[in-house]
Amino acid sequence: MSDVKYKVIVGLEIHVQLATRTKMFCGCALSFGEEPNSRVCPVCMGMPGSLPVMNKKAVEYSILAGLALNCRIAGFTKWDRKSYYYPDLPKNYQISQYDLPLCSDGFIEVGGEGGKLKRIRIRRAHLEEDAGKNMHTAGFSQVDLNRAGTPLLEIVTEPDMNSAAEVRSLAVELQRIVRYLGISEANMQQGHTRFEPNINLVIEKGGQEYKTAIVEVKNLNSFKALERSVEYETARQLDDFMETGRTMQMGNKSTRGWDDVNQVTVLQREKEEAHDYRYFPDPDLVPVQMSEADIERIKASLCELPLQRQARYITEFNLSDYDAGVLTADRATSDFFDEAIAAGGVPKRVCNLLTQTGLRLANEKGCGIAELGFSSGAVVELSKMVENGTVNASVASTILEEMAKSDKSPQEIAEELNLLQKSDAGELELIVDEVIAANTQAVEDAKSGGKKTKKAQGFLLGQVMQKTKGQANPKIVSEIMAKKLG
Ligand code: ZN
Ligand code: MN
Repeated sequence: MSDVKYKVIVGLEIHVQLATRTKMFCGCALSFGEEPNSRVCPVCMGMPGSLPVMNKKAVEYSILAGLALNCRIAGFTKWDRKSYYYPDLPKNYQISQYDLPLCSDGFIEVGGEGGKLKRIRIRRAHLEEDAGKNMHTAGFSQVDLNRAGTPLLEIVTEPDMNSAAEVRSLAVELQRIVRYLGISEANMQQGHTRFEPNINLVIEKGGQEYKTAIVEVKNLNSFKALERSVEYETARQLDDFMETGRTMQMGNKSTRGWDDVNQVTVLQREKEEAHDYRYFPDPDLVPVQMSEADIERIKASLCELPLQRQARYITEFNLSDYDAGVLTADRATSDFFDEAIAAGGVPKRVCNLLTQTGLRLANEKGCGIAELGFSSGAVVELSKMVENGTVNASVASTILEEMAKSDKSPQEIAEELNLLQKSDAGELELIVDEVIAANTQAVEDAKSGGKKTKKAQGFLLGQVMQKTKGQANPKIVSEIMAKKLG
């Protein structure tokens, strides 16, 4: 294998469920976990003679996504029927968009190797409706149409990704974007986002270049499955090529499923070509026309995007890439941080409180940092207490933890738990004297000016901190100590 080099090529199709109140072409409420077939009507059950009516909100949400993904927004689009014959699609077609997608030719930037940004092109993003759900129980099958007609935004990237990690980064970034925009909850457990990677390899062997057949892995609903399936396919396609020499041919694209138990992909079928779907314009729906003014109005509601915020935190507040990433992981946390800064919080102090203790508490509780139960104002107050030496940083962590449990202010908590930092020079001087009297060897070392000086000074300071249960203001103690030791 020494003369063999390979590169994996991945493009991604992502279905994002839009957070509209009602379905794409009827007034049924979107639902999850409801009694089967309780959120249905003649339109989404596909009854003959029923007429679909477009959900305008879904179109606006899609345009918002398209703008955030730097796409061209079509002034004119239409609806097409994509023919299927499946029990969970009683109309026998899905309403989708074929040759005139709402959004096209965009790009998304994601964190790549070495902290550099990588641009991945977006080919198109179009709107369509979801199908129902088949449920197979012992001996027979049932169909639940509650999900049928749910608006989906299908986003298709160019094959610009070259590793499983990169594919994951894109998926995570996309989730962050749609959540910031408020157009989707993007909840993986509820199937709000489904990924379908198209994977193949370019192999260099003996000075020749070969391409393996493209495999599309269907219906992945977790970041982990997405990442693992790309890794698995990379290894499988390389093995297959080394064994059989098979390469990409006309029509040998295939579809595989992901077996989560065995962590392998499994062949499902040879891919249909587009003409198998017999696409044609839906005669029941009028085309969608968007004026420049409409698009401008939607553009005005765009928020600052997560990657921009992350960059702003790094340049404006000098935060690390990691800290800025934690603070912008979800919009509520990022808004919370911005609020705290606007209210006079010291950026680095607020950041430390939120990304250290805050993140730990949020992980323990399984919620966002902004949902821990304290206000941004209270965090500002605490950050100021650290800044002016009322409490030290390690005690601040304890106070923040208490703030998550009660409505008390940081000052009240600090007083109640006796956590206020001792800055009274007179009081501290007495303690320093005690420590000096009890540690003659260390005092000698500290005065010596030799190698042991620094260590001995640190030891004496530690003794004072221990005697005051961590409450002494270390800066003042150091000053007193320096004076005493000459
Ligand atoms: Zn309906
Ligand atoms: Mn689709």
